[in-house]
Amino acid sequence: MKVKFYGVRGSLPVCGREFEKYGGNTSCFRILRERVNRIAIVDAGTGIRNLGKEIVENGINQNIINIVFSHFHWDHIQGFPFFQPAYNPLQRIGILAMGRQGKIKDLKGIFSTQMQEDYFPIQMEMMGAQFEFLSYGDEEVIQGARVSSIPQFHKQSGGSYGFRLDDEGVSLVICTDLEHVNGIDQDIVEFARDADLLIHDGQYTKQEYENKFKGWGHSSWEHAVEVAIKANVKRLIITHHDPDHNDAFLDDLEKQCQKILPNALFAKEGMEVSV
Ligand SMILES: [Zn+2]
Repeated sequence: MKVKFYGVRGSLPVCGREFEKYGGNTSCFRILRERVNRIAIVDAGTGIRNLGKEIVENGINQNIINIVFSHFHWDHIQGFPFFQPAYNPLQRIGILAMGRQGKIKDLKGIFSTQMQEDYFPIQMEMMGAQFEFLSYGDEEVIQGARVSSIPQFHKQSGGSYGFRLDDEGVSLVICTDLEHVNGIDQDIVEFARDADLLIHDGQYTKQEYENKFKGWGHSSWEHAVEVAIKANVKRLIITHHDPDHNDAFLDDLEKQCQKILPNALFAKEGMEVSV
């Protein structure tokens, strides 16, 4: 299994020379299951634009492209109208809300609203692809892979969902946009237990979190490290970088993090890792 990062910024895209190394696009990852040669996408922040271009350029022999959503805040959906495969009438696109079976009244409306004519020139029904809106339970087998989900605290319990994918004998856990409110959330630790790779929110430093951002719905990189150690994960990658954190600042945080976990990384746009 491989994960490629197309957007690792939290909250808002940024650009400028001081953001070139880690990248400015908001959340979007591509998972490649090599055994079956299938991709799945996690979130549709602005990073999905480049991923869509790549899919169109290289072609894709896959009847349905699934996009799994951690939640639907702006930075996780704002690239969706620019996802080129969604304009191909022959393409099926699955919009997946894991763990939310029976909890979302209008999944389609979340996407069509952001494209209504007050906000965007093209409406969702004009895009052309065949969309399927699917809400799943906590544990599912999707196209042969076991996918689990967990409600996370993001402004409220269940404000976002984490995922775990067990396939090809390895496990990948993605927990972004979550806050550890009263110490580390033990449910998240158990969910990530023994994972080969944990990708975890680390928007703030501990100091920033404690001084300014308690209650904003995110973790510090120190929280992510604590989860990784307690859960005995093999590797940690930190994502959802704050738009105020430039390359030099993130390089410094990555060095501090690697003093504790030498193989940990801060996610960079364009980076691909094997799980
Ligand atoms: Zn976010």
